[in-house]
Amino acid sequence: MNNNEMLLLKLGEVVLKGLNRRAFEDRLVSNVRRRLRRCGSFQVYVRQSTIYVEPTTEESDVAAAYDAARQVFGVVSIARAVPCEKTVEAIAATARTYLAGEFARARSFKVESRRADKLFPMTSIQVSQAVGGLLAEAFPDTAVDVHHPELTVFVEIREKHAYVHGPSAPGAGGLPVGMGGHAVSLLSGGLDSPVSSWMMARRGVELEMVHFVSPPYTSQQAQDKVLELARLLTPYCGRMIVHIVPFTKIQEEIRRRCPEEYFTLIMRRFMMRLAQAVAKKAGAKALITGESLGQVASQTMAALAVTEDVTDLPVLRPLIGMDKVEIIRIAREIGTYETSILPYEDCCTVFTPRHPATRPSVEEVRRAEEALDVEGLTTEALAGETWVRVKP
Ligand code: ATP
Ligand code: MG
Repeated sequence: MNNNEMLLLKLGEVVLKGLNRRAFEDRLVSNVRRRLRRCGSFQVYVRQSTIYVEPTTEESDVAAAYDAARQVFGVVSIARAVPCEKTVEAIAATARTYLAGEFARARSFKVESRRADKLFPMTSIQVSQAVGGLLAEAFPDTAVDVHHPELTVFVEIREKHAYVHGPSAPGAGGLPVGMGGHAVSLLSGGLDSPVSSWMMARRGVELEMVHFVSPPYTSQQAQDKVLELARLLTPYCGRMIVHIVPFTKIQEEIRRRCPEEYFTLIMRRFMMRLAQAVAKKAGAKALITGESLGQVASQTMAALAVTEDVTDLPVLRPLIGMDKVEIIRIAREIGTYETSILPYEDCCTVFTPRHPATRPSVEEVRRAEEALDVEGLTTEALAGETWVRVKP
């Protein structure tokens, strides 16, 4: 441990140029600040494609900040580091104490240096050699191996200080949330939609969720489960609003008045209409679903055409070409899997047709829907909408 310890976050998508780059950095710095707030007080600023996170009090929890920063989109890698004076002696002394535990475990090491300060009088190779020499003297049991070392000591010569750190860990990647616009994500209690939401958030999209409930066919536990899924996404996405829209009457009317083979498709058209209304009110510019081509009868190409027919917003389906296995892998990685598999019913599983239409046409579904008061049902559902603000 070292009470000077701080974090260096490297920025992703460095191909961004000009104005974009500035917007990227500003957004990322403000997202990092917000996400680290509950870890104590930190100074957060950007220099040369790196975000510096420095604790400002004894109480600032660097380990917690490290964990939180690993979930912030826009960061490609992250290292815990210690700053020191920009001399070979100070750098070696810092590495000796800060990385003593790593040296005790490693049989070989090398030093890798980067010189962001181009005015520094030594080249990075000279720095590596000089620091490596001093460390080899200090740790005679750890051999120098520049090809396959067990431990790499990183030295970064920057503007004010030199920084010493061990290996960096991968960050969450992607773009800072807020840079990719604002969308409404249809969140069910399943495995797919938390993953699709996460994937779009990683492209910088700020999310607002909509969830449809059909009491008494669906339970309070099913709704709580969805709120919990949203909460599990907040370390990545930030706090968010979940709109809860009552769906019982719509489903009962569909069952009463429409041919059974179209139940699911008509229901999904209502979901799209309602989600679009929520989006327009929120100023959101797209809808997101967890649909994956061919996964179920309502996710064939023909079926997607039928559902899309009722909205003029782009419908983003990041899972469209993914296998269930890949989706599950991501769900485990981001921590939503265990909650998603809790066995509560979703309104999608209420009144499912025994033989859903496999090649529906937009025309025939529109006609089947004429038996319903679409406008009235939509308005009534929207009037019953409530919302919850979900925080980390
Ligand atoms: P998931 O695992 O996300 O539940 P699924 O494979 O069960 O997906 P469907 O039930 O057909 O697929 O739903 C497809 C998509 O429709 C979901 O991924 C989600 O985006 C949306 N959706 C389904 N049910 C609801 C609901 N009750 N509230 C909000 N959105 C829903
Ligand atoms: Mg579902």
